[in-house]
Amino acid sequence: MGNKASHKYEAVIGLEVHARLSTKSKLFSSDANAYGAAPNENVSVITLAHPGTLPKTNKKAIEYAVMMGIACNCTINRKNYFARKHYFYPDLPKGFQTSQHTVPICGNGFVTIKTAAGKRNIQLHHIHLEEDAGKSIHDIDENYSYIDYNRAGTPLIEIVTEPCMHSAEEAGLFVTELRKLVRWINVCDGNMEEGSLRCDANISIRLKGETKLGTKVEVKNLNSIRNVRKAIEFEIERMIDLLEKEEKIFQQTRSFDATNDTTFAIREKEEANDYRYFPEPDLPPLNLSDDYLINIKNNLPALPQQLYKKYQLEFDLTEYDAAQLTSEKEIADYFEKVIQYTKNYKAIANWINGPVKQLMNDEQFSLEYIPADKLAAIAEIVEKGEVSFSNASSKLLPAVIADINESVYDIVQRLHLTQTKNTDELKEWVTVVLNKMPDKVLEYKKGKKGLMGLFVGEVKKLSKGKADPKIVTSLFEQELN
Ligand code: ADP
Ligand code: MG
Repeated sequence: MGNKASHKYEAVIGLEVHARLSTKSKLFSSDANAYGAAPNENVSVITLAHPGTLPKTNKKAIEYAVMMGIACNCTINRKNYFARKHYFYPDLPKGFQTSQHTVPICGNGFVTIKTAAGKRNIQLHHIHLEEDAGKSIHDIDENYSYIDYNRAGTPLIEIVTEPCMHSAEEAGLFVTELRKLVRWINVCDGNMEEGSLRCDANISIRLKGETKLGTKVEVKNLNSIRNVRKAIEFEIERMIDLLEKEEKIFQQTRSFDATNDTTFAIREKEEANDYRYFPEPDLPPLNLSDDYLINIKNNLPALPQQLYKKYQLEFDLTEYDAAQLTSEKEIADYFEKVIQYTKNYKAIANWINGPVKQLMNDEQFSLEYIPADKLAAIAEIVEKGEVSFSNASSKLLPAVIADINESVYDIVQRLHLTQTKNTDELKEWVTVVLNKMPDKVLEYKKGKKGLMGLFVGEVKKLSKGKADPKIVTSLFEQELN
């Protein structure tokens, strides 16, 4: 933070995150819920709110909202209902949005994030279901605005946190974690650029030690994690500057300008809006049975937090390894597959978090190119000392990917990758190295034992990675001690 006075203050942040559910149809009609269709293609009389039409609740959307609630440790409100939220918007043809208010589908809950300072649970206030509005387009024609109703009526969940975050870092990590979760359980594609996940950030400032909340501003529609962070950073500084100048902070709705990372006011909001919520009379209230909830819970994949714990407690992996393996579902699934073939968890974690991840940075690469049983075989060959790790990762792995029909053992033979355990041959290399570096040998004998790494490394080079380092080390020890 640039402001000198910033240490006196504490920022308070609450987020409202909208996630578009990846159901086939809209929340209350059979119109397609698809991004990128030609304008007004997915629009029926229900989407257009013609008089006399009746909405019907999409079962899948309810199921997805419950799944997300379970994944976020929420209480599921078995009895919940939709409500009308009245406001006029040209792209909201009914004149109200069907949302949830008094009783949302999920209450409370938390999402765990890991900051530089350690782990924190970010408390949720609730998760509710609502329909999205259409889209007004103002830049096609000088005199007219265009409206595309494709998005109108598509299903959203809104995840609302308590005002419990205190930095742009925390907010960014929270959205990152949410995006991971929706993708993990496959209820939303998490694509922020296409607006499948968007975030409103509420920010206020107070003196440290103060318990009352300050006046908040709300920055709307942040469509990347970077923008979430930048908007919050900018607002914190702007508001601290105002306080330092003893100017009043107005409750405002603001927008983010990504071209210069600033925000600007779009409306003042002195009093709470009166949306005149009332229960939606055209839709029956939801009454979710215990069986229904249990069934959804049982069908949920293992969640990242569960696997993160399991990998440390049951497989004895480090926190780092566990975090890496659970960073994406694709990776966790792959790890689970590979360990069907070997119980050498640590070796597999090293392989996935090392050479395999490096390959994954290459856009052409897909995990399918390394069948799980083959990676297990490669790891075992290395563990047995038959091929060195460096040859296995630089030569064997690429060869396996190049031809998945050839057996791993055949490739080892064809490429002559077997480590040399032949002591006579190894002794020759050891002698060459000792003769090459008399100075280092002297230093070693005087006590600089760390030089062993250098000696063994030289033999590795001479042997093109084929010398078994364990045997080489003991040969050096015999010669030097
Ligand atoms: P509104 O009615 O304006 O939408 P809510 O009370 O429903 O406000 O809260 C919306 C979001 O704003 C929540 O995420 C909440 O945590 C956050 N929030 C509310 N008050 C503050 C505040 N003073 N500072 C920061 N965040 C706040
Ligand atoms: Mg709000």
